[in-house]
Amino acid sequence: MSTMPLYLDYAATTPVDPRVAEVMARHLTLEGTFANPASRSHMSGWLAEQAVETGRRQVSDLIGADPREIVWTSGATEADNLALIGYMRAHRARGRHLITSSIEHKAVLDSATALEQEGFEVTYLAPRANGTISPEALQEALRPETVLVSLMAVNNELGSINDLQALGAIAAAHGAAFHVDAAQAAGRIALDMGTLPIDMLSLSAHKAYGPKGIGALYVRRGTRIEALIHGGGHERGMRSGTLPTHQIAGMGQAFSLALEEQVSDNAHLEQLGQRFRDGIQRLEGTWINGDGGAQVPNIINVGFEGVDGEGMIMALRGLAVSTGSACNSASVDPSYVLTGIGVPREKALASIRFSFGRFSQVEEIDQALESISNALEGLRTRQSA
Ligand SMILES: *Cc1c(COP(=O)(O)O)cnc(C)c1O
Repeated sequence: MSTMPLYLDYAATTPVDPRVAEVMARHLTLEGTFANPASRSHMSGWLAEQAVETGRRQVSDLIGADPREIVWTSGATEADNLALIGYMRAHRARGRHLITSSIEHKAVLDSATALEQEGFEVTYLAPRANGTISPEALQEALRPETVLVSLMAVNNELGSINDLQALGAIAAAHGAAFHVDAAQAAGRIALDMGTLPIDMLSLSAHKAYGPKGIGALYVRRGTRIEALIHGGGHERGMRSGTLPTHQIAGMGQAFSLALEEQVSDNAHLEQLGQRFRDGIQRLEGTWINGDGGAQVPNIINVGFEGVDGEGMIMALRGLAVSTGSACNSASVDPSYVLTGIGVPREKALASIRFSFGRFSQVEEIDQALESISNALEGLRTRQSA
């Protein structure tokens, strides 16, 4: 008999909020708003289009943007691809140099590699030990031919927060566009496009209690990008394909809740985060990776002296946690994010990411700490025997 493990992997994906699932269900069946939102010849199509535009407004409201600046995509991965590849291709006559960092999500790093194969040049900035990019490092890397800078808002393995105002200002002063992967940031930190010097922003629904398979790229008015997906000219030519009304309505509802509940959500996460940190610090031979800078409260990357991460994961079978980004957990390579901030290989292999969210409870944090304490004791006793 087995029960589900305690879910502490919110940074990999969040469960859909029941209030979001309820809205989505109303956009699927014959009785619901299921029609093609591009159908202009009947009432059913208009209603679907209305639902899409409501979702667009809900998403743009969270980031202080105009609804016309939102382009629907299949997720943050596609949004990152569209931002990097779409922007560099559209501006190749002006310059072929892109700046990003070595600890971005694979969606950005692999897009950068694809661009290098097309003849573009990429500089990968090294982060500081706290997981953030220093504005000075960005300043020094700029070249006359730099047209785009892409840096994430919140790192998905460390929870570290970049200074978007300072970094964006440097890009803007140089005349380069600034793209930000904000998949982990929506609902956690203020993302006001009215005041931040950001030209493109990638968003994902499923990191914020919405469904998987939908996201958006914010594209500031006047920013030119080339489409990657052709056919039909949806989304003002930037991303073709029939719009998934139920997904969009779900993302809209999720982002609307994120805006409404941002203060209470974050207060809850602060409380859980502090309790978890205190508990970890009471355990012998532990450390927190990427600490010391601005952090979201809900992602904590912990190292355990004298044990390896895989052994620890095995010993923590009752907890759903991750040794790195979910996409890499099948490999035994240490997390490139941890080695990227200077954590030695051995220590990186002995590290686990714990992340929690809206539905996590204080008792679950205590239960996790107890499991960790027991697992450590078991592993260390066995090793010294
Ligand atoms: C999850 C995540 C992505 C990918 O988002 P999808 O919607 O799953 O494609 C990109 N960047 C970061 C930082 C993420 O955490």
